[in-house]
Amino acid sequence: MSGPNTSYDPVEVAALDPAQLDQAVQDALSAIAAAGTLDELKAVRIAHQGDKSALALANREIGALPPSAKAEAGKRVGQARGQVGAALKTRQAELEAERDERILVEEAVDVTMVPGRRPLGRRHPNELMAQRIADILVGMGWEIAEGPEVEAEWFNFDALNFDIDHPARQMQDTFYVEPADGGLVLRTHTSPVQARSLLERGVPLYIGCIGRAYRTDELDATHMPAFHQIEGLAVDEGITMANLKGTLDRLATELFGDGITTRLRPSFFPFTEPSAEMDLRCFVCRGADPDCRTCSGTGWIEWGGCGMVNRNVLSACGIDPDRYTGFAFGMGVDRALMFRTGVADMREIIEGDVRFNAQFGMEI
Ligand SMILES: [Zn+2]
Repeated sequence: MSGPNTSYDPVEVAALDPAQLDQAVQDALSAIAAAGTLDELKAVRIAHQGDKSALALANREIGALPPSAKAEAGKRVGQARGQVGAALKTRQAELEAERDERILVEEAVDVTMVPGRRPLGRRHPNELMAQRIADILVGMGWEIAEGPEVEAEWFNFDALNFDIDHPARQMQDTFYVEPADGGLVLRTHTSPVQARSLLERGVPLYIGCIGRAYRTDELDATHMPAFHQIEGLAVDEGITMANLKGTLDRLATELFGDGITTRLRPSFFPFTEPSAEMDLRCFVCRGADPDCRTCSGTGWIEWGGCGMVNRNVLSACGIDPDRYTGFAFGMGVDRALMFRTGVADMREIIEGDVRFNAQFGMEI
């Protein structure tokens, strides 16, 4: 910037030369028009309107002019700056409008679109049923016991009072683990856990066992080579069949509702004496509908087997059968699930289709 000078002629100062000012305005206007984005426009604004722009320089030069020349030069520079400022403002508005329109399109939310939601997993209904029964037993102060699925023949048969020539031991009923004379089987019931628990835990003993068992059945609508059982065993002093009946009634009530009781029919199992089949009062018709499909009109549903623990089993496990007595019961989880929920084909239970599981809801 030059110092005050009375003979100073604005036309002779390069920055204030009208041709140069016009050129600066034209340069600015074409740069503004060429700016395609807000960022580009920002750069244009700095170059043509900023402190170092030709117009800013011209504006500063006015201060050095003699008062007589200031008015005209000021008008000229002011108009030039006004023209550039207006063009910047207009272009800014245009580019902002374009940006807003683009964002509306690019970031549009389709509220009708179905989200890619990952479906929740479900616990298997067998597991739910087994856990529910286990919860009831634990609520009565019982413990949950476990045993191996590949079981010693001794635990599976001998300890449970199966004779050496009992038909259940035959190959057509039992899976033997190779070598066939190795003394190992896939357990045919969860009852070997009874003998294991008596040996490991001693008496008094109140245990429930839930697990998988195996028999050489073909897979069809009502049979599975691998199935699930729930076993209960109580051994203590003074245990009678009344305790067995009371426990079963309690289980039935908790599982199927008030007033659902059980009845016992004489039967035979090697490991209990006396033995009984247990029936469950039909929880659909409660014995009042001769056309009931759940119980076929009989009013009762077969639920499993039970009885007083055979003295031979207690003796085999080192328990004095003259001092201690006990009862045991077992029921099929898969079967219970079928008649409780109306599943008609057992194969659906093991196919592992989550759509089947999903019908039974989610319990934790
Ligand atoms: Zn019924």
